Amino acid sequence: MAEYEIVCGLEVHTELSTKTKIFCSCTTEFGGEPNTHVCEICSGMPGTLPVVNEKVVEYAVRTGLSTNCTITQNNKFDRKNYFYPDLPKAYQVSQLYLPICQNGYVEIHSSKGGMKKVRIKEIHMEEDAGKLIHDAYSDCTLVDYNRCGVPLLEIVSEPDISSADEAVEYVEKLRDILRFAGVSDCKMQEGSLRADVNVSVMPVGSKEYGTRTEMKNINSFKAIHHAIESESARQIDLIEDGKEVKQETRRWDDTKGYSYAMRSKEDAQDYKYFPEPDLPPLSLSDEYIESIRKNLPELPEAKKARYMNDFGLSEYDTGLICASIPLVNLFEKTVEITNNPKDSANWILGEVSKMLNDTQTQPENMTFRADSLGEIINLLNGGKISRDSAKKVFKAVFEEDVNPAEYVEKNNMGMMNDTSAIKSAVEEVLKANEKAVNEYKSGKEASFNYLIGQSMRALRGKAPASEVTKILKELLS
Ligand SMILES: [Zn+2]
Repeated sequence: MAEYEIVCGLEVHTELSTKTKIFCSCTTEFGGEPNTHVCEICSGMPGTLPVVNEKVVEYAVRTGLSTNCTITQNNKFDRKNYFYPDLPKAYQVSQLYLPICQNGYVEIHSSKGGMKKVRIKEIHMEEDAGKLIHDAYSDCTLVDYNRCGVPLLEIVSEPDISSADEAVEYVEKLRDILRFAGVSDCKMQEGSLRADVNVSVMPVGSKEYGTRTEMKNINSFKAIHHAIESESARQIDLIEDGKEVKQETRRWDDTKGYSYAMRSKEDAQDYKYFPEPDLPPLSLSDEYIESIRKNLPELPEAKKARYMNDFGLSEYDTGLICASIPLVNLFEKTVEITNNPKDSANWILGEVSKMLNDTQTQPENMTFRADSLGEIINLLNGGKISRDSAKKVFKAVFEEDVNPAEYVEKNNMGMMNDTSAIKSAVEEVLKANEKAVNEYKSGKEASFNYLIGQSMRALRGKAPASEVTKILKELLS
């Protein structure tokens, strides 16, 4: 059997996290009762006119600048005509001829070793369609237009991807960039990031691409990986059997683990594209683009490098924190307050993660004041509370958003700073434990630890252990 290589390109669709839709002021919020987030514009009533949401343009430019694209200063919208019940206007407003971003790239690890660039051909703005609900009744299909007009970016790569692993890393990188750039939450389970996957195979070393197939709307990393492996194997089998790969759109069934033919692939001409007559072309000034470039948030690569180089965090810990924007925000606020990146990271990966786990909470649903964690670490490191107390205070912060200092005060958790009070408590302990004292004096070291334990208990953990040890040594010598 000849050796084959995979040639794969991805069209990644991401829903933008603007508050309102692309051409009207309906909310983009996920969910809601069917057909409640709609108006006459996004439900395609005749005689209505769309107006471009400025935030969508800004987010598209931000995404382009974050992926090394050139911004098309004079870009425009086009009509993509097709009828399907989830699209009430019978056309989708998209960008074919002059997309807003072109010629960018994202860097990934090559399966052959080293780094490689996956080129981005273009990024265009478009509107999402509604959703068909097939399983509510057996004899009819329902339609929910809430998603109609939610802004999308379609990010089209060149066929530079040569393995399922590379495809997954590319989409992960894109997801991180989109999240850090603040343009999308990329919740794959809610469909706000999904990919159309183009795959073909060719003998190793060949210059000519094989016939490609497309699998639409794949919405998990696992499914993307699985689909590419399975579809490339299917094509290789066909070629080895002397059969032809047909150019077609296939549906990937992730539960069954195979794809099946849906329809022969359409060409652009099938959609009878023409310039959108209801929207003027966009003209973006140099100043406008520069102002967005200047205000770009710190992107994932730069942030990770800073955490490792400036803060001395490990690559592993950096990766865990950077997997979630709310954790990144909490971490940065905590460092700002404590000036102690290591402790801040340890608390986030320790107590914060533990509470998130125990309560099955997603980081974006944390409700406590961001300053609180830093305040607790400062109380602990300043010797004002014990480590045990700090954990208890954090639990109360996490659950009820209490003010740490007030909570410590109210629950009498503050450390004793009064040496004479600690001393008299330790003296009481020695009196009550004469046996252990004698044992220690006759050389039994373990008795010393026992006496520390008894003293800490008598002090209810509110005296620094180092102080108690010091006093105990003095009294026993
Ligand atoms: Zn609307």
